[in-house]
Amino acid sequence: MTARARRTGRSRSTRLWRTGLVVGIIVLLVGFRLVEQIGPERHPDDRFTVVRVIDGDTVELLGGDRLRLLGVDTPERDEPLFDEARQFLVELALGRSLELEFAGSRRDRYGRLLALAYVDDSVLVNKVIIENGLGYLYLFRDSPTDHPAFAAMMQAQRAALDRSLGVMAPVAEPEPYYVASQSSFRFHRPGCRSADTYTPDRWRRFGSREEALREGLSPCRNCRP
Ligand SMILES: [Zn+2]
Repeated sequence: MTARARRTGRSRSTRLWRTGLVVGIIVLLVGFRLVEQIGPERHPDDRFTVVRVIDGDTVELLGGDRLRLLGVDTPERDEPLFDEARQFLVELALGRSLELEFAGSRRDRYGRLLALAYVDDSVLVNKVIIENGLGYLYLFRDSPTDHPAFAAMMQAQRAALDRSLGVMAPVAEPEPYYVASQSSFRFHRPGCRSADTYTPDRWRRFGSREEALREGLSPCRNCRP
């Protein structure tokens, strides 16, 4: 074989190899596409892995974003059940892939993602926390309360009250009554400074903490009723 013939042979095999590589890449891409389409109906880009649990309602996602679970408020660091609520979320979500569903604003004023989060495609983390008495339903006037998840979280709060679980258990020294503004989802102790600005005829009055919680209100962060 001449040197020229050897060169031609080599370049033909290089061409074949390249063609094979391109075909291989196309097959892989089509394959991935099919696998992606078999997945859940929500967009696959809205799946995130939890790398750190900060507290009972906030996690850090792979890539550095923080996620604040929508519609739920768990105990602060200096409050009872903080550790339990955090640990509960560790067991439920740490190292796992969450599927996020955005309802309303995608981020809060601190830049955190704000979403409903599902594990195993169907377990609504936000609801399970409330159901176990480790957080309160947390509504604002612009909360998307017509979303079915919010009705489910309301039910969860009532179920936790029925079972006196965690933060839903009766308190040792209840106030004679509690107050809330007609237009707010927070309730207060009678002497709370945050409630001072309320016009008295616009007050709602509740005979007990439980009564306010049953209506989907959550405790004021100042007077912590
Ligand atoms: Zn208050």
